[in-house]
Amino acid sequence: MSKTRSFRSSQLISPFGPGAILDVGDESLVVMDISHWPKKLEEIKLERLTREAGVYALKRPPVVESQFGTPKPYNSLITVRFPKWMFCPKCRKLKKWRSDDEKNDSGVPVCSNPSCKKRVLVPMRFVAACQKGHLQDVPWDYWAHREAKKICDKPDLYFRSAKGKGSGLGALKICCENPGCGAESSLADILNTGALGSRCSSTQPGSQKVIPKGIVMSL
Ligand SMILES: [Zn+2]
Ligand SMILES: [Zn+2]
Ligand SMILES: [Zn+2]
Repeated sequence: MSKTRSFRSSQLISPFGPGAILDVGDESLVVMDISHWPKKLEEIKLERLTREAGVYALKRPPVVESQFGTPKPYNSLITVRFPKWMFCPKCRKLKKWRSDDEKNDSGVPVCSNPSCKKRVLVPMRFVAACQKGHLQDVPWDYWAHREAKKICDKPDLYFRSAKGKGSGLGALKICCENPGCGAESSLADILNTGALGSRCSSTQPGSQKVIPKGIVMSL
């Protein structure tokens, strides 16, 4: 089942323009750029404004006309789930989202651990960005294994808090609980420039090949 999420069209100008992170309930999504918008859009006839803006035409964003209207490809916008890394607030297991994860009755990704009783996953509140504005997921599998410099063959990641380390980022850690591995790394220096290395994959949310490296921001 796919779920319908909505916001007012005025919010599309600010704060939820294309590329912005959109919070809808517990979900975190990014509005795709206009190359993904419906092609046929209603024109706004305001000659002076059109001339001032130096554009060929002004167009209205796609809208679902009423509260009970049905979103269709021609009247709605595509968003992508971002960040893709999510965790379960109950068992703390980290998971990189795949579209199959929300093919269920609720239409949102849920924990696969039976004892969590389909607890809804929440997004990790850190993203990576570079100076050019590329926005990507933090590679948590890399982060957990950064001291080992190699991701083990069966990473099993958990987002844990370290006891007795206060309430700062140093009290949070990513642990690999694969019995043969045990790598872990705290978030203490994750906001440092270059914490993930200096390369960037030059991709944005929605791009398929993502190997993120860059600056990390807390949302
Ligand atoms: Zn769980
Ligand atoms: Zn591991
Ligand atoms: Zn970049």
